Amino acid sequence: MGDKAGPSDTPYFNLDKSSENYIRLCRLITTICSSLLRHILSSHIKPVNLRNELDINRTSLEQKMNTQQKNQIYLKAGCKSIEAQDLDISVLYILLRNICTKLPPPKTGWGKPLQKGDNSESAFIERVRQIRNSISAHNTHGKVSDTDFQQYWEELEHSIIEMEKQLTGDVVYRGAISAIKDMKFTKDDAERYKLEIQQSEDEKESEPQDLPKDKACVGSNAKKPRCSPNSKLVAAIDFGTAYSGHAFSSRVDFENDPLQIKAHKWSKSLLAHKTPTSALFDENKTLIAFGYEAEKKFRELSDDGKHHDHYFFERFKMQLYNKSGDTKQTMLTNKSMIRDISRKELPAMYVFSKAIEYMHNHLLNGLKEQDDDKIAEENINWVLTVPAIWNDSAKQFMRDAAKQAGINNDNLTIALEPEAASMYCKKIQLVKLKEPKAEFQIFSPGNQYLILDAGGDPVGMPCRINVEFSAFDQDAKTPQRYLPMLGELHNTNTVDKFKECDKKEMISEAGKKIWDSIVTGKALDTPELLATFLLLTFADLKKYHYYYWFCFPCLCPSTDITFDQEPKKLKDKLTPEEMEQFLQAYDTFQDAYPTYQGFFVAVLSKGNIVIEDVKHMNKFENTQEVYFGFCDPSNIEDYPGWPLRNFLMLISYHWKGDLRGVNVLCLRDRSRDGTRDISHSLLLSLNVPDIKNVPECPKCVGWEKNEKHKLAPRFVNLSASMDPTRLAASAVDLNLKLMRWRLLPELDLDLISRTKCLLLGAGTLGCNVARCLMGWGVRTITLVDNGRVSYSNPVRQSLFQFEDCVKGGKPKAEAAAEAMKKIFPGVNAKGLSLSIPMPGHAVPESAIDGVKKDVETLQDLVNSHDAVFLLLDTRESRWLPTLMAAEKQKIVICSALGFDTYLVMRHGVRSDTEGADPAPLSSYSSIPGDQLGCYFCNDVVAPGNSLKDRTLDQQCTVSRPGISYMASALAVELLVSVLQHPELGKAPADTSASDEHLSKDFVCPLRLVPHQIRCFVSRFQQVLPACKAFDKCTACSKTVIEQFRQDGFDFLRRAFNDPSYLEDLTGLTQMHQETLDAEVWGFSDDEECSSMEVSSS
Ligand SMILES: [Zn+2]
Repeated sequence: MGDKAGPSDTPYFNLDKSSENYIRLCRLITTICSSLLRHILSSHIKPVNLRNELDINRTSLEQKMNTQQKNQIYLKAGCKSIEAQDLDISVLYILLRNICTKLPPPKTGWGKPLQKGDNSESAFIERVRQIRNSISAHNTHGKVSDTDFQQYWEELEHSIIEMEKQLTGDVVYRGAISAIKDMKFTKDDAERYKLEIQQSEDEKESEPQDLPKDKACVGSNAKKPRCSPNSKLVAAIDFGTAYSGHAFSSRVDFENDPLQIKAHKWSKSLLAHKTPTSALFDENKTLIAFGYEAEKKFRELSDDGKHHDHYFFERFKMQLYNKSGDTKQTMLTNKSMIRDISRKELPAMYVFSKAIEYMHNHLLNGLKEQDDDKIAEENINWVLTVPAIWNDSAKQFMRDAAKQAGINNDNLTIALEPEAASMYCKKIQLVKLKEPKAEFQIFSPGNQYLILDAGGDPVGMPCRINVEFSAFDQDAKTPQRYLPMLGELHNTNTVDKFKECDKKEMISEAGKKIWDSIVTGKALDTPELLATFLLLTFADLKKYHYYYWFCFPCLCPSTDITFDQEPKKLKDKLTPEEMEQFLQAYDTFQDAYPTYQGFFVAVLSKGNIVIEDVKHMNKFENTQEVYFGFCDPSNIEDYPGWPLRNFLMLISYHWKGDLRGVNVLCLRDRSRDGTRDISHSLLLSLNVPDIKNVPECPKCVGWEKNEKHKLAPRFVNLSASMDPTRLAASAVDLNLKLMRWRLLPELDLDLISRTKCLLLGAGTLGCNVARCLMGWGVRTITLVDNGRVSYSNPVRQSLFQFEDCVKGGKPKAEAAAEAMKKIFPGVNAKGLSLSIPMPGHAVPESAIDGVKKDVETLQDLVNSHDAVFLLLDTRESRWLPTLMAAEKQKIVICSALGFDTYLVMRHGVRSDTEGADPAPLSSYSSIPGDQLGCYFCNDVVAPGNSLKDRTLDQQCTVSRPGISYMASALAVELLVSVLQHPELGKAPADTSASDEHLSKDFVCPLRLVPHQIRCFVSRFQQVLPACKAFDKCTACSKTVIEQFRQDGFDFLRRAFNDPSYLEDLTGLTQMHQETLDAEVWGFSDDEECSSMEVSSS
């Protein structure tokens, strides 16, 4: 076959027929068969859901896969996108077999010899796999005999056509199959297909999985050091029953002060170090929110009735304990399922690993924001705390979940919660004893201490009242099982008014209202009047400082209320059946009202449980077991909460008969781990003084003490979360961080934002470059222009508006800087009106001082910035900044526009501080960055006065309006690529001239860093030329730079006054005489005629 002409000019090597047979079969399998299996997979699992399905089934899939297969789908923890396209045929088969639940197996089952006549989709899938296995058995020689080939080929062809028919009812693959049958192959193909089929090794059939070595449990990993010597940081995740949080401490901090632990504040207003252990997954089983955010989102969804397809897990951690505790039935395994609040199930491993992953990423993002030294993930030692009561299987479960969340098990310590607390306490002792006044000598050697873990309910009083944004809305619905509470907000305009407010007067007013509602009986109909509040606030809206002071008015009888008996638990009085009965009666009672009732009357007699409205209190005989019930917010075991006080006043005033032994039910209705529980509700028997004959309103108390236990307001500083300038800054950064997080982890955003950019020219290019730089997070941008905004500008120059043009127009640079601050107040933008002196524009004696000053200003600007953009409208105006930047080795990005062409280029940055010309190059294939040319290197004439002797239309090149956007965008992207290259301005130039420019390994994470980008919009074509620095360049050659260093302004003045001076100096004049056919190509740009002003100045 060597004599046949092929479709391409690749020479064929002689492959023998049996080798060809082998390659042909490989090709059919890796292309058409794979493609078809992908289609079948996508027909079962929507591509958008693929990632989640893979994660959900991770544990079982991993047991069936080899390393290469696992790498295809689980290599990067948290890597978001995966497409069927990324999967080879062996993985596809595993997925079809294991996670496509609606695909019925072949009649004989998966992985078994097929029954004749089984024409199911799965039978064909199975057949393809079996043939592939047979073929890969030939791998050692890479040959298949003609007879075998014939048989395999027919079977594959038949399977493909049948599968396709069943999938789409079509047979478009037939043509592709015959194309492969006629295809010619080279030796390279042979190697490639052989490798591909080898790589797609068959799945493991053995079920029992040998445990990976890192599966050591807590306690058995004593060999491993707790914290590797390399670790620079210990990061801990506390995955709590009710609340979760994370914290970290760096090695340096720890050595300075072991208690210097940094913890994230989850809620600015609550100053909470933890967030609720709640996770919200959407209908595709993607984790969409965690903690407060999850609760909020789920509440919003359920308000709109859109929550049914979502999965909301609340306080789910202890489900592990419940499962693992019951060893007889449900040993906790990787296959255990947990239920969300509506009893929908997800694999426990998936929910936990996603929650850990969330905390892990959240902590890492926080670290990155700290702007500390960058700490590589491998230098972080992770600690995950678990309750002491957990058994090994639950601990192992958490270890596996952490691994799936992307935490390397070698860097993971599972710690017992009380042990961690205990270690902390020991450090307290150590630290406090260091203090001179040893008042904290709580611990001394030999002392014993007890760690009390109060679990989900903290010992202190948690926040029980929320005043939400909807509080002013009278019609707003109170969420289920929340009690409405009436209050008054007093907001003052100044901090002095806030201080001056007569709090005594306010509370006595409130007390009178309550007293009045009791005396008149209004409170019997509307018991909410008993539980009211006052809120005194002052908001410093400039600083986002908020002062607030709550008051919960309570009437105090002159004689104390005392306990008649010890408080009892409800569960000690009622049998479990009676408890059920009570709950039913209670729910029926509440259901009758549009909002939850905080007060009620209950009869708790054997066999007779009744719940009634407060106003019917007189209906009951005093001899019955009547209890005055209220919803008790208190979590102090034996003491009721404050709403009881005013209720007792009402009872005392209206309840007939003996007031000794008033029975009270403090109803504590909680949900814990998904189970409703009222067993810890209290029953009190109290002696209440008779107030029926009290003539006037009793004393009223209730101003709240602040966190320092003083009668003073509380204070929140919300500047970080409210100040729009800071919000904008963090939002801009977040956007960029997402890009880094998702796509380009190597991206150095800090370097970009630190780079100070000088934009010479605030016209079309200047405006758009400035905007685009802001998009990349550049924070320091200085614009220079000597023009004013004219009526033609705003439509093309994206920072200007009509009002900038009126009355002669605002100075361009200043107006542009102002506009940038309006777009993003966090940007440090400055605008300067400045004329840039140019060669060929003679400086008369009278103007010398002014020009000298301009030169100095420009020099200062170049010195104080890192990158200079040349966005000026004439060629000669670029000369001085090019020279100055070359001399100071700054990065220069230059852009120039034609009518339908544009140039974007970077100038070479010389290595030699002496301004030496670069060494000659051996080849032009890749030019190092220090040998690249500047804008003038291509020219063989010195810049002169391009405006002389030209009519207006010649002076202004009008360009297609889109051109400047394209050129500006590329100019900024070129700068960013240069900044991301490890050699910065010295990065060698990538050109489109070399073939490998699109396939080679890139040093820069953003890939290509070209020297020049020239675009011809008429053809929509773009080329990337590169050119070497020219040793006779009038702007960047050694001669010019040295002369400039030596003579300074005198040198410049000669160049300004006499254009031929530069040509003489560099030897161009001489060269001209030698070569007559020098081609001149310069771009001039900008539709604007602002250059007129330059020439006239
Ligand atoms: Zn040059």
